[in-house]
Amino acid sequence: MSLTNEPSFRESVELMFNRAASLMNLPSGLEEKIRVCNATYTVRFGVRLRGEIKTFTGYRSVHSEHMEPVKGGIRYAVAVDQDEVEALAALMTFKCALVETPFGGSKGGLCINPREYEEHELELITRRFAYELAKRDLINPSQNVPAPDMGTGEREMAWIADQYARMNTTDINARACVTGKPPHAGGIAGRVEATGRGVQYALREFFRHPEDIKIAKLDGKLKDKRVVVQGLGNVGYHAAKFLSEEDGSKIIGIIERDGALFDEKGLDVEAVHQWIAGHGGVKGFADAQYVEDGTELLEVDCDILIPAALEGVINLSNADRIKAPLIIEAANGPITSGADKVLRDMGTVIIPDLYANAGGVTVSYFEWVKNLSHIRFGRMQRRQEEARHQLVVDELERLDRYLGDAWSMTPAFKDKYLRGADELELVRSGLDDTMRTAYQAMREVWHSREDVDDLRMAAYIVAIDRVSASYRAKGL
Ligand code: GLU
Repeated sequence: MSLTNEPSFRESVELMFNRAASLMNLPSGLEEKIRVCNATYTVRFGVRLRGEIKTFTGYRSVHSEHMEPVKGGIRYAVAVDQDEVEALAALMTFKCALVETPFGGSKGGLCINPREYEEHELELITRRFAYELAKRDLINPSQNVPAPDMGTGEREMAWIADQYARMNTTDINARACVTGKPPHAGGIAGRVEATGRGVQYALREFFRHPEDIKIAKLDGKLKDKRVVVQGLGNVGYHAAKFLSEEDGSKIIGIIERDGALFDEKGLDVEAVHQWIAGHGGVKGFADAQYVEDGTELLEVDCDILIPAALEGVINLSNADRIKAPLIIEAANGPITSGADKVLRDMGTVIIPDLYANAGGVTVSYFEWVKNLSHIRFGRMQRRQEEARHQLVVDELERLDRYLGDAWSMTPAFKDKYLRGADELELVRSGLDDTMRTAYQAMREVWHSREDVDDLRMAAYIVAIDRVSASYRAKGL
């Protein structure tokens, strides 16, 4: 997305990188090596649709291969271009380093409005795109592992995995060529909710530190905090749902493409989500005030603002009117580098994208490991967990006895229930651990260094330090 009079998204990410690098003592050659994007592959391919050949343009950018495979989603959107995928690939490098998933950074995109195509057409297009990338090792379990991003999901990942498997029939690790697959095609429990869940865990961790809450001029807990969410896609929906249902936060505003909804008493996230699914937008939803120019709601008085849609939505045109004292970047790059400075000067605390939306790639990592180990996730831990497991079995049996005929629990159901709970529980606790540890690493830099006064710089410093250690250890 190009922003008038402001650096492009890629330049914006570079400016943030440069600011962090200027606080570090990296040899200048190494600094440059980490900054630049290694390669971007552009592909134009034709697909025969509705009786004629339609040409599509796609990209896969590899930012850093200090660890392999490189990792990052594939986005389907009309605004996709080289600048955007390169910015997103760079963010993946630093994100993976920050949450210690052993990957380099990559990102892909296809210029397409997926809403304009039928499912079988999207399958043809996706398979052809996957073919073009896979034959150049830009999809490969040990070299480059895509995942869902804006406009793609489990369905597209299943097509990609199948396409790769057909092209590599002897690759026993074929399933690990992409993450975010459906559970029955080698996916893992909890991947769909993972990024939103990560946003929730990030906020919970933030609110465990009284000193940090005070810097954001807030108090108390997440309960009753007034939250505005921009974008009720996969990430925004899950974050808003979990925060309202499990932490007692009030979602007072939801901003969507066609406008926004506002209710000081708190919106019913599930009801709004269902309304959007049925009507294609928020307009017409009865139980809230409708605001035609949705972006106005970014500027409303609230405690926490969660931009969970596009990059660059908070820029020099609106930054000085943002009232939220705490912003958590669920999207990648929602705040331009210029707006970042304005907000910092205003004292706004920003929990940066590198960290805030890292839940997705964290659970992708679990999925990849699960695929490579060829063993059900958690099965090896089973023995250690047996004692705890037995408690669950006992509990279910008690319930069984108590409910009698009203409860139809077969041994198979019990087993499935236990196995299901097993994987999801492990995934969630692994994610929670990851989010806590990464926050603490950032926080340590934020509070211990005089020259670091925001979490974004702290995040970049931790990440760049790790990438540079990896280059130094193995050579270029
Ligand atoms: N597309 C997501 C991101 O931006 C997930 C990437 C992944 O799971 O590899 O972080």
